[in-house]
Amino acid sequence: METPKNPHSPRYRIREGLNRLATVLRADEWTRAKAAGLNPTQLAILDLLEARPDGLSVKMIAAHLGVSQPSATDSINALEKKGHIEKRASAVDGRSVGVYLSPEGSAVLRQDATIDLTEQAIDCLDASEQQALLAMFIKMIRNLQEKDAIPVQRMCVTCRYFAPFAHSDAERPHHCHFVNAAFGQPELRIDCRDHEQADPTSRAATWARFQAG
Ligand code: SF4
Repeated sequence: METPKNPHSPRYRIREGLNRLATVLRADEWTRAKAAGLNPTQLAILDLLEARPDGLSVKMIAAHLGVSQPSATDSINALEKKGHIEKRASAVDGRSVGVYLSPEGSAVLRQDATIDLTEQAIDCLDASEQQALLAMFIKMIRNLQEKDAIPVQRMCVTCRYFAPFAHSDAERPHHCHFVNAAFGQPELRIDCRDHEQADPTSRAATWARFQAG
């Protein structure tokens, strides 16, 4: 038991904090999903497919959502019945089946204008606090990805087009070679549709430059 003389570690407390925020996030997801006539897993699948014009396999959908393949299949079948997704030959591997967002599924996402409790909590942080928090999330997510604990996340820090701190402009220090433009720390992507994973050696070098600032 925690006492003033025997306090829990900061790690324990951070986990508690993340747990509380995850509860609010789940409540928000239920609210959004209910408004769309879906459950949270079904809505999460539409969100996932929205930025993936090449579709995803059932296996990858399950991995991204952290659910079993049978559970993902149930949700995909329900979405297909509603006309929100389509299954067809994969654009990446013609021998397998890909899952794609349909125009009807896109319309469901466009109707979603909920300002949720999670966003309200984020808005209580000022701009520099939000920027610092984003950088911390990127570090934690990258750590999990490099351990293969989660699927590839389409983040700038793992992208072959990313050049961190390539410019002297403090507002826009980074460079994206895909669009050939400078951008700032708040625009660092966690899920970019133009992302291409860099090789491990380049990723390590990019991360070292990013950390050095
Ligand atoms: S392509 Fe996307 S992920 Fe890659 S550096 Fe540019 S903005 Fe970042």
